[in-house]
Amino acid sequence: MPEAELPLTQGMAEIMLRLHEDSPLLVALFDAQDRLRHANPAWRQAYFIAPGAQPSWADIMRDNHAQRHGAVIETDDIEAWIASISARRGKQAFRAFEADLCDGRWIWMTETAQAQGWMLCIGSEITGLRQDSRALRMAHTKALAAAQTDALTGLSNRAHGLQLLQAALEQSELWPICIAALDLDHFKQINDQLGHAAGDRVIRDFASHMQAGSRREDGCARIGGEEFLLILPAAALPQAQAIVERLLNRVRQSRPLPDHPERGYTCSIGVAQAIWNEGAEALLARADRALYQAKAEGRNRITSAA
Ligand code: GH3
Ligand code: MG
Ligand code: MG
Repeated sequence: MPEAELPLTQGMAEIMLRLHEDSPLLVALFDAQDRLRHANPAWRQAYFIAPGAQPSWADIMRDNHAQRHGAVIETDDIEAWIASISARRGKQAFRAFEADLCDGRWIWMTETAQAQGWMLCIGSEITGLRQDSRALRMAHTKALAAAQTDALTGLSNRAHGLQLLQAALEQSELWPICIAALDLDHFKQINDQLGHAAGDRVIRDFASHMQAGSRREDGCARIGGEEFLLILPAAALPQAQAIVERLLNRVRQSRPLPDHPERGYTCSIGVAQAIWNEGAEALLARADRALYQAKAEGRNRITSAA
């Protein structure tokens, strides 16, 4: 029998965990809500987390950015930065990238995600690697992120959204899968009456509601001017309807324009549950048809595909 097939006993698992505690590797476990559930001392020390504290990943980044310790975060807009990283974080079974710490260390960070949403992060120090190839690696990471991100909102762009959808449909453990096609209502009026900058602000506001209401495994993409795609793994139609209902309610209450504090906006949503062997295109077309039905019935509502 190959050695890899020897069972991991409880005793070995405990030894492994104890060794993790002593290891200089940075080890952390996040749950499906992206809350830190376990981290070894090396990880806690690197990101300035008190022993026993279980903050969310977003709060760790907010703290690190505000205090200028822990992770190096080069941005003036931490919320946009968080949104943009969230578009990629935990969406794939495995991901590796280079991360900087304010203390000068460079970390090769890996993320291994379960379909259920838990994620193991293991980082190792690579400060000693050659500086010249590092610049190249960093440029590659930045270029990849830029190619996948919508610049206005930080959400996934159209190409990345479609890629996430394709990947989700191919993973049977993520089924049932629903998607939602979302389009802002009478958006042209906002642009015409209040200007393009106000329109952009509304688009960013909508994106932040989409992001705030989504789980880490969900995909949020801006696929057109004021058109969005939400990918909801492990959700059947009733759950998907409840999720977009909550989003629509938040949007209805939102007043994102400081110069026009009374002015709100709404959106229309078409929801569709994926059918086995149906391609991504056909699924999107069904969600789109449901969206147009929601528009035709008066907007500011949700319609589900048959
Ligand atoms: P409906 O309820 O039927 O969706 O009406 P609508 O006015 O939202 O529909 P339409 O698709 O005709 O208009 C969308 C407008 O969105 C047209 C375009 O000028 C505007 N738009 C597209 N991209 C952007 C953008 O990045 N920023 C801003 N401010 N406006 C945009
Ligand atoms: Mg539109
Ligand atoms: Mg529209």
